[in-house]
Amino acid sequence: MLKVMFSAKPAAWEEYRETLMTAFDAEGLDVDLSRDHDPAEVDYIVFAPNGPVSDFRPYTKTKAVLSLWAGVETVVGNETLTQPLLRMVDHGLTAGMVEWVVGHTLRHHLGMDAHITQQDGVWRDTVYPPIAAQRTVTILGIGALGAACGQALHGLGFPVRGWSRTPKQIENIECFSGDDGLRDTLSGAEVVILLLPDTPDTRHVLNAETLGLLARGGFVINPGRGPLIDDDSLLAALDRGQVAHATLDVFDVEPLPKDHPFWSHPNVTVTPHIASTTRADTASQVIAQQIKRGERGEPFLHVVDRQAGY
Ligand code: NDP
Repeated sequence: MLKVMFSAKPAAWEEYRETLMTAFDAEGLDVDLSRDHDPAEVDYIVFAPNGPVSDFRPYTKTKAVLSLWAGVETVVGNETLTQPLLRMVDHGLTAGMVEWVVGHTLRHHLGMDAHITQQDGVWRDTVYPPIAAQRTVTILGIGALGAACGQALHGLGFPVRGWSRTPKQIENIECFSGDDGLRDTLSGAEVVILLLPDTPDTRHVLNAETLGLLARGGFVINPGRGPLIDDDSLLAALDRGQVAHATLDVFDVEPLPKDHPFWSHPNVTVTPHIASTTRADTASQVIAQQIKRGERGEPFLHVVDRQAGY
């Protein structure tokens, strides 16, 4: 019988214990799932950074640490973690992110705010929203989440550009990579969506210089991570109209401090890191499938590259 340790916050245990056992059964895995196994006997750890395990050294037999989160920036540098770390790619999480990104993109693309906030009795019938084909959307980070958002936006008719670390070819997305690629993909960009991981290389990818590459009056949508943006540069770009609006789900410090200027800025929308989340039913299936791969001697999927940081 496999021993699987569940290390996340107590509420997650309530959410996952049954769905995980159902998924293990579906994969034909005989599993003893617990929150307090003897570390020396644990085969796999289901892990979230807000759970009790932070020193992985006693887990001498553990074959993989399965993150419940897509973002691994808080654990990737843990020197006690020598076992393979697998990040979460969950189609429930992806579906939620696609809906959030498409919703916020359409809000800005269609200029919905003007009609929601200006019900003033004036019949303004001369300005029609553009159609998607007239507005290119740029996605920084075209991995599991960014590429799925790109396909959905393409399906609505938006031309889509994407930027990654390594060169890519993805159908329906004009792909760019590397430093020159960043410049090219941001030049004249009207909507920029950030779905990069938080690594030393992606910190402040949007800064005074790169924000200046956008089309004047562009939109920034950040469901990636707070450190991707230099806040002061973004505020300055908003104040001079270079950026028309920023919709931000993630921040350097979370919860966003009450006195942070983002809260009161008229052209900033703050959402409290809710763009998407791992869904217990679908994520449990992913975890069971990964463990089954491990038990069959097949390579794990979505193994974190410690060097690259994601
Ligand atoms: P992936 O690892 O699948 O994709 C990451 C993408 O970023 C890849 O295209 C990768 O390039 C690119 N990238 C990484 N480093 C660089 C770099 N230095 N320069 C250019 N491109 C780079 O991650 P996911 O799509 O699963 O998740 C992305 C992020 O979304 C997570 O790390 C997390 O921070 C965030 N997230 C936010 C949530 C929310 O609710 N707000 C929920 C879930 C995730 P390459 O393809 O070459 O590897």
